[in-house]
Amino acid sequence: MIAKSAKELIDICNSNNIKLSEYAINREIDEKNISREELFLHMQETLNVMRQAANTGRKKEVYSLSGLIGGDAFKLQKYLESGKSLLGNTAVTAMAMALSSSEVNGSMGKIVACPTAGSCGILPAVILTAGERLGKSDAEMIEGLFAAAAVGMIIGMNATFAGAEGGCQAECGSAAAMASAAVVEMMGGTPEMSLNAGAIVFKNILGLVCDPVAGLVEIPCAKRNVSGAISALSTADLVMAGICSKIPFDDALSAMYKVGIELPASLRETALGGIAITKTGLELKDKVFNNN
Ligand code: SF4
Repeated sequence: MIAKSAKELIDICNSNNIKLSEYAINREIDEKNISREELFLHMQETLNVMRQAANTGRKKEVYSLSGLIGGDAFKLQKYLESGKSLLGNTAVTAMAMALSSSEVNGSMGKIVACPTAGSCGILPAVILTAGERLGKSDAEMIEGLFAAAAVGMIIGMNATFAGAEGGCQAECGSAAAMASAAVVEMMGGTPEMSLNAGAIVFKNILGLVCDPVAGLVEIPCAKRNVSGAISALSTADLVMAGICSKIPFDDALSAMYKVGIELPASLRETALGGIAITKTGLELKDKVFNNN
């Protein structure tokens, strides 16, 4: 049975006594007609690419082709190693990983566009740091990715992942909602708790516009990946402490989609509003395209 809403997804998982990840795994096996082993091998390759992109910028400075972003993941990693950070290892490593993937994306390196290239830093940062903190194996982190996929299926069916359609709340918001739900499952939470996490993430990012400087997925995108990763991790802790979302996931998702559609075109990836048309945003655009 295919879930068309979060409520149906929770019901299916509960009545079959399965996790969100198992739902997604079963669907993939059915649709692709492959074995569980083949599916996990494929997802291992995906995790490998995520890990590479999340770590490259922590080990050396990586710059985007435009020169608009770069070197920040390395800077943050050095800061973490200095022992002076406020938030500590898990959070700051996630922040550095989110920046790294964004920088690798801007440098035309290999990333996993999950769910989009613009938000490619969030899921790897969250799964890898939570996985390390919880002592999870690669196979368990892969299950986390499948849990995220189960939530992504519901988002894709009922809303959008595209900044051009729903603003950054649809891109970075979806990535963070999927990631938070996955971590809740990795921490032993129920499907309902995972969807609670997704709902809280969407509520907290509602209305975020898409306004990339020069139309490139760099400013403010890289730092929005950082906030998305932190939102996902902090929300997982909220939910695991027993805190619920009063607004269920389906309602929060529907609100996100409606708000996205109501956003003016200038705030939906056209680079005609928001940060993109600030004085500095326009100067940077000029620099990129006119080599000034
Ligand atoms: S600002 Fe727009 S392009 Fe940048 S990450 Fe958000 S949705 Fe993607």
